[in-house]
Amino acid sequence: MEDLIIIGAGPAGLTAGLYASRARLKTVLLEKLAPGGQILTTDWVENYPGFPEGLSGYELVDRMKRQAENFGLKIEGKEVVRLELTPEKKVVVTNKETMETKALILTTGASPRKLGIEGEGLLTGKGVSYCATCDGPFYRDQQVAVIGGGDTAVEEAIFLTKFASRVYLVHRRDELRATKLLQERIKAIEKVNLVWDSVPVRIVGQAGVEGIELKNVKTDEISTLPVEGVFVFVGYDPSNALLIDLPFQFDDFGFVKTDGNMQTAIPGVFAAGDIRSKILRQVSTAVGDGALAAFAAERYIEGHQV
Ligand SMILES: Cc1cc2nc3c(=O)[nH]c(=O)nc-3n(C[C@H](O)[C@H](O)[C@H](O)COP(=O)(O)OP(=O)(O)OC[C@H]3O[C@@H](n4cnc5c(N)ncnc54)[C@H](O)[C@@H]3O)c2cc1C
Repeated sequence: MEDLIIIGAGPAGLTAGLYASRARLKTVLLEKLAPGGQILTTDWVENYPGFPEGLSGYELVDRMKRQAENFGLKIEGKEVVRLELTPEKKVVVTNKETMETKALILTTGASPRKLGIEGEGLLTGKGVSYCATCDGPFYRDQQVAVIGGGDTAVEEAIFLTKFASRVYLVHRRDELRATKLLQERIKAIEKVNLVWDSVPVRIVGQAGVEGIELKNVKTDEISTLPVEGVFVFVGYDPSNALLIDLPFQFDDFGFVKTDGNMQTAIPGVFAAGDIRSKILRQVSTAVGDGALAAFAAERYIEGHQV
């Protein structure tokens, strides 16, 4: 039996693994793809403390992985397909074997919902972004389009006005879904153009974004906005497929609720990183969650109150 199994080798899982291995817990980190998580898909990270010049997403997680492995963390390439969690037993079923553990940390992350249109895949990381906090500063004095009409889209569009010379907020309806206060705020910003009744149909460009083609849903007319950045905020999906039939508590969007020590509703099962219900999903918050979850798991295994 393992002391601790961690599911998902993104920044949260790698940090939990580092802390747990350093605390000499018998720990295994299970990952279905290459270790690294979402940040592998980004070219450049400039808001993770300690790297004033920034660094690539790959290098950041490669450093985290090597650091954890230096303390003996075992990372195994396995997909977890089912969990059997009772107060007495924690069983983790993978595509290769069934394992048992004293404590479990869920770090399965999340992923931004895609538009699914031509050009999106090719230009992701080359002008197409799903994170204004991460990439906004790269668009200083440039024109950008934001796709979406909910709170996140409006908040991120407002944030982008700090950098961009013009922000087009493209929405498929003729009114925003965002709260009234946010609507008032965005409408008062001169740099913002609201583009109503429009859906994106193609992102134009080869080496970088040159524009976005929009279809007016009322007239079927196609037009092109000349922008250098396209920010997509049409939803963010938690990787919670393993969890939905179990007695966890979820927020309205399907993210797992924990207390401040990362404890979920099931004793001895912790959640950290983007899978967790919280207001900021970033590498820095994921690593903080991961450290806390490992420390709390250690206390749980030792029989202390978490
Ligand atoms: C394009 C992009 C750019 C970003 N840029 C920045 C940035 O500049 N700065 C910043 O701070 N943040 C950035 N972020 C956000 C940051 O990447 C996330 O907040 C962070 O990766 C969350 O870490 P995590 O460990 O919680 O989850 P994730 O990184 O999502 O990792 C989860 C891992 O779990 C694995 N997994 C899931 N289910 C299973 C299963 N059943 N079995 C085994 N493994 C499983 C997944 O394969 C994945 O590797 C960016 C995100 C994106 C998408």
